[in-house]
Amino acid sequence: MCSVHLKKNRIGQCASSRVSILLGLLVLIPSLFGCVREVEQISETPEQTEEPRTAQEIVTDVLKAYPQSFKNTALDAIEEFSPLAIQLAQQGPPSLRFIDKSNPLPLDYTPKHLVKLKDVPSLHISRDTLEGTPEAVDALTSMSNAMDKEGITLLVSSAYRTIAYQNWLYERSLSLYGFTETAMSVAPPGSSEHHLGTVFDFGDITPAFADTPASAWLVENAHNYGFLITYPEASSWLTGYMYEPWHYRFVGIEAAQFAHTYFDGVAWYTLKFLTELSEHSIIHSATP
Ligand SMILES: [Zn+2]
Repeated sequence: MCSVHLKKNRIGQCASSRVSILLGLLVLIPSLFGCVREVEQISETPEQTEEPRTAQEIVTDVLKAYPQSFKNTALDAIEEFSPLAIQLAQQGPPSLRFIDKSNPLPLDYTPKHLVKLKDVPSLHISRDTLEGTPEAVDALTSMSNAMDKEGITLLVSSAYRTIAYQNWLYERSLSLYGFTETAMSVAPPGSSEHHLGTVFDFGDITPAFADTPASAWLVENAHNYGFLITYPEASSWLTGYMYEPWHYRFVGIEAAQFAHTYFDGVAWYTLKFLTELSEHSIIHSATP
């Protein structure tokens, strides 16, 4: 009896534990399904990606690294500034390529097409070998003709330079004047804007050029012909070179006027800004 009773008790215990397990499962299974459903719901939710930035937002972002005075001018007129900046950045290199000691050209760089300045009879040149790109020489001719009409002669003394020639100039300066003076006055080969074929040096290529009528005229008017001075007065801390009143770069009329309106005519900032902007792919598909 006792053993039967015990067995009954065990059976009773086993039965009650089975019931507990079943009840447990009944509670657990729906909650498991709930979890699965939740996981499914999460995986069905589209990935949370950031909204793509608009071209104007990128223009504003790139501008953030620039001096406050330029930022204020540009942001106050962002509706005009932004499409113009995008349009110019879409043009990109080579005419607007930013070049300095830290951003040189590839050592095998050569312009696609060069023309001789001596083939333009109205230009005043110091040597028959001077060359430039067709667009730059056309703009130079217009500018020189306009100066002639005012009785001012613009003598062109240097133009396109090969990288090998710049290397010769650089080495010669090093041996004559040493590193410190050379670093402030002669670009290392590959870092000279003269490799572009869009740059001209005027007059006697000395600081005295700043006091000539030609220089005064260029300071007032060169941007209306698409030219910018690359190394303005008191900008050595920025450009890394001494003041070169004789060195002008053709960037196109729109870019030069853009530089004058928004970057105080400073080519260094303008070209750096446009080059940085052109590195954002969205700029190239944006409608200016
Ligand atoms: Zn020069």
